[in-house]
Formats: sequence, C-alpha cells, structure tokens
Amino acid sequence: MKTILISGGSGFIGSNLCKELVKNENNKIICVDNNYTGTIGNIKKLLSNPRFEFIEHDIIEPLNINQKIDEIYNLACPASPKFYQKEHAIFTSKTCVLGAINMLELAKKNNARILQASTSEIYGNPDIHPQNEAYSGNVNPIGIRACYDEGKRMAESLFFDYHRIHNIKIKVIRIFNTYGPKMNSNDGRVVSNFICQALKGEDITIYGNGEQTRSFCYIDDLIDIMIKIMASSDDFLGPINTGNPEELTINELALLIKNKINSNIKITHKPLPKDDPKKRKPDITLAKEYFNWEPKISISKGLDKTIEYFKNNLQYIKR
Ligand code: UDP
Repeated sequence: MKTILISGGSGFIGSNLCKELVKNENNKIICVDNNYTGTIGNIKKLLSNPRFEFIEHDIIEPLNINQKIDEIYNLACPASPKFYQKEHAIFTSKTCVLGAINMLELAKKNNARILQASTSEIYGNPDIHPQNEAYSGNVNPIGIRACYDEGKRMAESLFFDYHRIHNIKIKVIRIFNTYGPKMNSNDGRVVSNFICQALKGEDITIYGNGEQTRSFCYIDDLIDIMIKIMASSDDFLGPINTGNPEELTINELALLIKNKINSNIKITHKPLPKDDPKKRKPDITLAKEYFNWEPKISISKGLDKTIEYFKNNLQYIKR
C-alpha cells in the first residue's frame, strides 16, 4: 500500500486529485486541509472510503503524522486573487513559505517524494511569450499579487535547496489557469464567475478591455500529468509547465460562455485589477517530450462539463 498525503486536498485541484488517486486500490490517501478555500463538500463522497482519511490542519503549523508517508503533493494555498489579496496576503505568504518548509520537513522525515504545485504566476507579467521553464519571470515584488507570486517563487527555491542540501526527491510543476468541476463558485476566478453569472441571468463582468489573454486547462488533463510527474524517475525535478496552450482573450471566453448558456446575457466592463498579467500561455515542449503529454480536452468541451457541474450545484452558489 502506498500512502499519499495531499495538502490542500479539499480544494479544487486537491479534491479532484484525491478522487483520482483513491481509485487505485493500492493507494491510501491522507487529505490535509484547513478548509479556508476548500470545502468538505468537495471530498464528501470520499469520506466513507477506508483508504481515505481527512485531517483538518493548517500547514503553516508543523504536521506530525504517525504513519509512513510515501508521496506528498503540496497544493495548499489560496490560489485566487480574490482570496490571496487584501487582508489574506500575509496568510498567503506564510502558507507558501512556512507551509512548504513544513511539508519538506515531513518529506525528509519519511524519505518521501514531494511535488510542489507552483504556478504560472511565478512568471508575473511576462515579457516573453509563450513562457518556457527557462524564463525567470517579471514579478512586481511589492505589488498586490506579490504575496502569491513571490511566495510561490520562494517555495520553489526551498524545494531546490532541500533537494541540494538534504537530497529530497522533489518535483516542481508550474500550473497554468485550470478550470472544471469543484471550482469554488465564490472565488472570483474568471471561468467560475462567467458561468455562474450567466446561469443566474446576471451581466458577465469583464475586467479592463478584455484583450488580456489566458490559456485554460481542463482539470482532468492536469490531474493526468500531475500523476505522471510524481511517478517519474528521481532525477526528474522540474520545473515543468503544466497547462493548455490554447490561448484566448477574456473577451473570447466571455462570448463562448454567453453563447453556451444564454445569448441574451449582457457583458459589462469593470476596472482591470492592478498588476493583472496581460498575456499568459505555456510552452509545453518539455511535457510533450518527456512525458508524451498534451491536453486532450478542448476549451469548448471542458466548458460544457463545467457548466453542467455548476447547473447541478446551483443551489450552493452564493448570490
Ligand atoms: N477576470 C474578468 N472578470 C472576472 C474575473 C476575472 O475579466 O469576473 C479577468 C482577470 O482580470 C484576469 C483574467 O480574467 O485578466 C483571469 O483571472 P483569474 O482571476 O481567473 O486568474 P489569474 O488572473 O490568476 O490568471
């Protein structure tokens, strides 16, 4: 039996990862979360499985586990600008840095493999396009996104130092915008906002002129590559971009969603948040060459599945 610990396991990506990993009868899953942005609802169906355990814990504090851990996925962190900014900024930095140290110490104690969920945000507002792993980024260190961007950069640095100094088996992945079922409807991300707005008959809110771009990866494609990367040989450390290179402007995304749900919905514009990156698209050459991986689910198909999820869960959507 392999014991796999997932910090942030009740969040959007974490709960989808728990659901997939628990399918393998040789896996035991320990899901660790403080439920700050994740919810028990995301893992409710897994709680009755004897190979699934939930521990309510904030990884800012050290975690003592009295069982041997084989693999750790470190996903815990508020990931939405709405949550990681403003009054939660210091908490976000602490989660990135102290959380990474605590998880790395746990890996050290257990001689476990550990995967860090890093982010495309470490590239900041990029001045090369698309972004490859060699690009070291353009981050404003004193801006309102810095707690997350710099926090995640520091976490990458800690991972590589623990590897160099303590020989910890690390994997660092840089996750680009991801969407799909179990997204928090209330976290202000563009896909969940637009879908929920359209389902409720409200205006779709585009920030700025909508010409900024993002490249959206459906959750199942991300989970697939995450598990492949964890299983890779010890000498594969990353960093590696994980995302879908299908790039869209936010205007294009709004139109796609509007036309799928209700073409009578209006689109309104709101001010562009500070330091909002102008464009983002992963160069996934490394993932293609090393893992023979590329996303399979198109934005249109992925949106259909996500719309279906939100339709079925509309009663939980806060108005
Ligand atoms: N955005 C938008 N309307 C919304 C929410 C977000 O136009 O209701 C924009 C946001 O300004 C950004 C893009 O959509 O340019 C992606 O935002 P999100 O918060 O989903 O992800 P991130 O900025 O972290 O990539």
